[in-house]
Amino acid sequence: MSNTYTVVNPATEQPVVDVDMADIAATDAAIERAVEAFPSWRDLAPGERARLLRRFAALVDEHVEELAELEVRNSGHTWGNATWEAANVRDVLNYYSAAPERLIGHQIPVPGGIDVTFHEPLGVVGIIVPWNFPMPIAGWGFAPALAAGNTVVLKPAELTPLTAIRLGELGREAGLAEGVFSVIPGRGSIVGERFVTHPAVRKVCFTGSTEVGKRIMAGCADRVKRVTLELGGKSANIIFADADIAKAAASAPYAVFDNAGQDCCARSRILVQRSVYDEFISLLRPAVEGVKVLDPSDRSSEMGPLISAGQRSTVQGFLDEVEVAFSGHKPDGPGFWVAPAVVLAESTQQRIWREEVFGPVVAVMPFDDEEEAIALANDSDFGLSGSIFTRDVGRALRVSRGVEAGALSVNSHSSVRYWTPFGGFKQSGIGRELGPDAPHSFTDVKNVFISNE
Ligand code: NAP
Ligand code: MG
Repeated sequence: MSNTYTVVNPATEQPVVDVDMADIAATDAAIERAVEAFPSWRDLAPGERARLLRRFAALVDEHVEELAELEVRNSGHTWGNATWEAANVRDVLNYYSAAPERLIGHQIPVPGGIDVTFHEPLGVVGIIVPWNFPMPIAGWGFAPALAAGNTVVLKPAELTPLTAIRLGELGREAGLAEGVFSVIPGRGSIVGERFVTHPAVRKVCFTGSTEVGKRIMAGCADRVKRVTLELGGKSANIIFADADIAKAAASAPYAVFDNAGQDCCARSRILVQRSVYDEFISLLRPAVEGVKVLDPSDRSSEMGPLISAGQRSTVQGFLDEVEVAFSGHKPDGPGFWVAPAVVLAESTQQRIWREEVFGPVVAVMPFDDEEEAIALANDSDFGLSGSIFTRDVGRALRVSRGVEAGALSVNSHSSVRYWTPFGGFKQSGIGRELGPDAPHSFTDVKNVFISNE
């Protein structure tokens, strides 16, 4: 028995399509197919697995525009973001298509024989995807997991299942056998929970809220199930007086308002050295007012709506507690819009300074010196990303070593490149995605000693 969920376009509030939702029985059946598909996928010649992943990448490439259009309609992502996201799935598949022939172990010197290690795939991997980046986060999980020889069951967020469903179809079209990569739309409390409790699922990759992540980790502990968590953030954008202040002010809005602030890497706290604080704020204002908050299907749109009425009221709840210093624009009419907003924080104890808003809101605070900047940045339960603006190389090094976060950038806001590792310190998560080592996190090391007797 299953029920349906009506996908809603967040820019128009109009229904898009009804999606069948899996129940426990359907989830178990999909996991069972993944179990059955595992031995032949694992035993496929590495070069053949590579060829299938490259073909999958080529099919995604042919469908970038179609996938992007789906994402604009389902998630309200801007056209520019959505095309980048679809292309990211292609690139991640291509990158990890080189992994099957390179899952290289060690040969370790021992007396009386030889000792070798193998990176053995785990079996079935369960991937739980949030609604904020439906395509990239799916790809960061399934591409390296498949490359390492695992089969994959993937649950998209209830709100945003459409691109994941299409990627599942493209995988089959590329020649992946039934059960190698299955997309199972459904509720977190049903399909997601089942990934955690089902004994055949050997690893869970979860991206989402810290609250649900903690529950998943606790559930996985029951079976010593492997787990990767990518959780929330409250990342700092630290601007020193010696920086290019114009560049720092012009780029700061895009580091937090991209994807309407629904980004775990959002630089939602701006720390500015006191001597340039007024100058920075006066430059930030026109930059925020200049963000093009438009219908996401408009090719010039830089920011779309929030994902849902619920998310909009969560964000509004934060705004109701504070005074907004200045804000940008938003369209009139239907859609879950919130105008980008800047708050001058008064205390590090304010909720706006401590909690993840996951909306287009940024809090700004002055600091006096390097030591205070690092202390303020680290005064958080989170530690995902961050930016440091300075022209002093020594300071850039000291501060980037001092900030407790997994993905930092200097004089730039980039967090994610598929060939570099990504993940959080502290309560922002555990484990790393992307980069050269990601396939290893979908394997267990096996050591074999072979006697020469
Ligand atoms: P969430 O509940 O953590 O959802 C993330 C994913 O986990 C979704 O696929 C969800 O499924 C699933 N899920 C929910 N409960 C589950 C459970 N008990 N067992 C297994 N899977 C479960 O996040 P949300 O409620 O959508 O968003 C709330 C807040 O989380 C946001 O405001 C934001 O602060 C944060 N968040 C962070 C990220 C990130 O990138 N780190 C992403 C999303 C949200 P369903 O949605 O289908 O129920
Ligand atoms: Mg939730």
